[in-house]
Order: sequence, then C-alpha cells, then structure tokens
Amino acid sequence: MQNNHHKEHLYKILVIGDLGVGKTSIIKRYVHHNFSPNYRATIGVDFALKVLNWDQETVRLQLWDIAGQERFGNMTRVYYREAMGAFIVFDVTRPASFEAHVATVLLANKCDQGRDVLTNNGIKMEQFCQENGFVGWYETSAKENINIDEAANCLVKHIIASE
Ligand code: GDP
Ligand code: MG
Repeated sequence: MQNNHHKEHLYKILVIGDLGVGKTSIIKRYVHHNFSPNYRATIGVDFALKVLNWDQETVRLQLWDIAGQERFGNMTRVYYREAMGAFIVFDVTRPASFEAHVATVLLANKCDQGRDVLTNNGIKMEQFCQENGFVGWYETSAKENINIDEAANCLVKHIIASE
C-alpha cells in the first residue's frame, strides 16, 4: 500500500575542484563502492545517481562531476542552475584556492597521503568554513573510503533542514 507521507527528494549536487584532486574518484567510491588508481580525465560533465533512504523518505542525489577546467569558464554558471548544494574538493598534498557559490561542503581529499597536513600547517579549517559559508568540511579519501558518506550526509542534512 502506498504511504501518503512518503516523500521523495531529488537534489542536484555539483562536485567542483581543480583537475586531478579526486572528484571522479570520490563519486565512484560513493556510488559504485570502488577505486581505481588510474587517471582518466573527465570530459565536460559526467553524471551519477546516488539513492539514500533518509528517515522513511527517499533522497536521490544527482551528482554532477564537472571537469576541473570548467571552473575557469562561463559554463560553470550554467551548471549551477537549480543546484541544491555542492562539494568543493581540493587535494591536501597540493592545497589550492577554493571558492563557493551555493551551500557547500568542503572536501580535503587524499587524506590517506597527507593526514593532518592542514592542521599541522596551521590552517584553521573551522574558522575558514565559518567565514566562507561552508556548512562543513571533511578530510576524505576516495582510496581508503574515509568520510565520504559522512560528508554527503552532512550536505543532505543541511538541504533538508533548509526546505
Ligand atoms: P578529478 O580530475 O578531480 O576527477 O580526479 P580523479 O578522481 O580522476 O583522480 C585523480 C587521481 O588521483 C587518480 O589517479 C586517482 O586515482 C587519485 N586519487 C583520487 N582520490 C584519491 C585519494 O583519496 N587518495 C589517493 N591516494 N589518490 C586519489
Ligand atoms: Mg574527473
């Protein structure tokens, strides 16, 4: 029997960051539960769908895997249309600049290669996130499967609470 109170959510989520930081690997780990050390550059944009059971409700995350170079072009604006949230990914072994446009969780990826690099360099992530409007940040590893589910749950929690 159909439960009248069963809700379905579809959220468009962008995954943004420079080339090679691990965007595709994080999505692959999260959706397909595997990891490949071989690098294959994403051309344009790839899509993946992750379905979550969220308190009696269904959440579908449509993940947009945007090739790194797009962030420098005007196309990025098009991608942001109707997005509910984003992950911004950077590589802890080569910290770079990051910028946010929508509700965003910051992922410090490849933490298997450089644990505590950020804190040891005196980078105050907590303060940075507050000042720049990130809803949270996680040290992640697509390789070792660290904190990817936690980061996604954090983003979904904030999106649902804001609806
Ligand atoms: P993208 O260009 O941002 O999509 O980056 P990819 O997901 O294609 O990853 C770039 C390279 O980094 C690949 O060789 C991956 O195997 C590697 N990589 C991605 N995530 C991790 C991680 O968490 N740890 C390690 N050690 N390598 C990673
Ligand atoms: Mg890619």
